Amino acid sequence: MGIAENINLLKSEIPEGVNLVAVSKTKPNSAIQEAYEAGHRIFGENKVQELSRKYEELPKDIEWHFIGHLQSNKVKYIAPFVSLIHGVDSWKLLKMINKEGRKNDRVIPCLLQFHIAEEETKFGLDLEEAKALLEMPELKELEHIDLVGVMGMATYTDDESQVRKEFGKLKSIFEQLKDTYFAGKDSFKEISMGMSGDYQLAVDEGSTMIRVGSRIFGEREYH
Ligand SMILES: *Cc1c(COP(=O)(O)O)cnc(C)c1O
Repeated sequence: MGIAENINLLKSEIPEGVNLVAVSKTKPNSAIQEAYEAGHRIFGENKVQELSRKYEELPKDIEWHFIGHLQSNKVKYIAPFVSLIHGVDSWKLLKMINKEGRKNDRVIPCLLQFHIAEEETKFGLDLEEAKALLEMPELKELEHIDLVGVMGMATYTDDESQVRKEFGKLKSIFEQLKDTYFAGKDSFKEISMGMSGDYQLAVDEGSTMIRVGSRIFGEREYH
């Protein structure tokens, strides 16, 4: 099947209200263009340089999401145009996004990334670290960031019950943060979880945003 068919099929499978981020990392502009022509507008990338290049070369009404690990010193390259930064996991990074948001006279939407998987290598906060961050008195002064939800990745395993448990954990973290820190704030509403191998489970467990790459564009080759 082609890219357009894959996207249409995915969209028909997920409930209304769940957003699809088409993860186009490593894929050529032509592949993105094909999805774009099928009506898709939200794309995710995990490398600053690749994202900046694609932003320059592709239509300007694309919503670009940054889904990877973002280094503070690279925020400036994507701050002028990025629609959502999924992987915020430190105060330092949040402050830098705010600073670059101010320079560009915009408010940059961000998700707090949580470590929900068993694997050691994945980035992200735990609940205590997130609370410490959200209780920083200076947080209120960061007027150029908007925290709109949470993001996480489950363990890469065939064990469905484990994956469900991890997604359930992220949902419960979201709810605790919502109740404690964002009670009156409607824009704090996103739970970004689910990839090609586990998006159905993620949707069952309350995902509002799935990030799907290989299921749309085919397997990736790394060089
Ligand atoms: C690559 C990537 C995805 C998409 O992975 P697929 O398995 O190809 O769907 C989703 N989220 C993040 C953070 C990624 O790096």
